[in-house]
Amino acid sequence: MSALVWFRRDLRVSDNHALYRAVASGGPVTAVAFVTLQQWLSHNDSPGKISFWLANLQILAERLAALGIVLHLERVADFAAIPDAISRFAIKNSCNALYFNSEYESNERQRDEAVSKSLARQKVKVFAFADRLLIEPGRVLTGSAGYYTVFSPFKRSWLGVAKISDLSPLPAPGAVAAPVKSGPLLTAEMKAEMQLPGWRSDLWPAGEAAAQKRLAAFAGTGLAKYHESRDFPAIDGTSCLSPWLACGALSPRQCLSAVRPDDKKWPAEGSGGEAWLSELIWRDFYTHVVVGFPRVSRSQPFQKKTAGLPWRDDERDLQAWQNGQTGYPIVDAAMRQLNQTGWMHNRLRMVAAMFLSKHLLIDWRRGEKYFMESLLDGDLAANNGGWQWSASTGTDAVPYFRIFNPFSQSERFDTDGSFIKRYCPELADITASALHNPAKLAAELAKKKISYPAPVVDHKIARERALAAFKNL
Ligand SMILES: Cc1cc2nc3c(=O)[nH]c(=O)nc-3n(C[C@H](O)[C@H](O)[C@H](O)COP(=O)(O)OP(=O)(O)OC[C@H]3O[C@@H](n4cnc5c(N)ncnc54)[C@H](O)[C@@H]3O)c2cc1C
Repeated sequence: MSALVWFRRDLRVSDNHALYRAVASGGPVTAVAFVTLQQWLSHNDSPGKISFWLANLQILAERLAALGIVLHLERVADFAAIPDAISRFAIKNSCNALYFNSEYESNERQRDEAVSKSLARQKVKVFAFADRLLIEPGRVLTGSAGYYTVFSPFKRSWLGVAKISDLSPLPAPGAVAAPVKSGPLLTAEMKAEMQLPGWRSDLWPAGEAAAQKRLAAFAGTGLAKYHESRDFPAIDGTSCLSPWLACGALSPRQCLSAVRPDDKKWPAEGSGGEAWLSELIWRDFYTHVVVGFPRVSRSQPFQKKTAGLPWRDDERDLQAWQNGQTGYPIVDAAMRQLNQTGWMHNRLRMVAAMFLSKHLLIDWRRGEKYFMESLLDGDLAANNGGWQWSASTGTDAVPYFRIFNPFSQSERFDTDGSFIKRYCPELADITASALHNPAKLAAELAKKKISYPAPVVDHKIARERALAAFKNL
């Protein structure tokens, strides 16, 4: 039997279930990946994220070549073209079994169903594996066999399932043949057509080795203090692993191994490891939500009645937010971090998302789209979950009346203002206390003749406006 492995968002050789099982089948193995630029753009994938994916794919091709496996890169417009393209590819390369790791979003599931049907007609067997999450959707259900909508009971139930599951990572498979040569995957024509910019490769070098290095560094120094340092954007308090997790250069089981090095003990309550594990469980949770309630991935709010919120259509305010020019230093620093690096600290994602959806009362979907268009780690489930949480329209969302005051947030989480000053250098000479107080800030800006926008909206007025909008639902 000749096996074909289809790589999507699982760009690694270690702990890759589809690859491992294809190699274990014992015959020759070929690999394929598809560039689907139109589809990616319709999903609002950022150019940096696409470049990062391609760079990871190139490194994967080199690692596969060392195992005797050739990775072919095929270009089609969108997912709809893949069933025919993969059938043709399988026939041309005499493959009689296809291996891939499951993806759970609606378009991806439809694509995979169409591929399975198309290959069945060609008598090619299809093997799909649970690989992307720690526990796949359908295995963590409520007493009435439904999907959870609240995180805490989901987590309890998740832990119950995890404790009886083998979550240890698989090793990289052995070679199937002598090493083969691997050249550049992208032709000059593809490069010219896509015209993709780079990404911050100094912060996120491509490849699973780079991801493993970061994971080891975080496990060695950051993990134990994670619960104490994770909310402070000026320090390296979180792992920054999300871009590698998003393209699959790193697996969640490899992350779990950092928390449970001996594969037996779960982290102690209140420890850094436990707090980090919770974040990995949030990652599972939001993907389960997308499967259980597919409307959320079709731009619908989870809480149906919030569809009636009177969102403001204000391009000027939207642009001020996008460009980091709102006059709220912590929001502006956050948005500039996103624009400059393709990544934003989690605390700031909540602050920035709540500012757009509550202070500016601009539709959360516009912010969700802008984040996707900008993030290296853009992920439909996590992004949608985070936005609907912040906008109080989602599962287990923040109550609508709990509206963060950005000035209090920065006072608490960036007390000395060092994060703000890193991304808003024009505020370098402003005292820390003024960064957290609008009246003092205005006075110092005037006195020191510093050019920085006045707040686009007053916090109290904005708060009242948002509360009224939700109360009137
Ligand atoms: C409005 C908003 C939008 C977001 N958009 C995305 C997105 O597009 N892609 C994305 O991966 N995360 C998203 N998140 C979740 C979170 O902000 C990022 O995963 C995290 O900041 C990544 O940094 P890290 O790798 O240092 O995380 P760590 O704190 O080190 O956490 C480890 C991993 O757990 C996962 N994780 C952590 N927090 C969450 C969470 N709240 N929900 C789901 N998974 C989580 C990520 O894979 C992360 O890499 C969003 C959150 C909000 C509030």
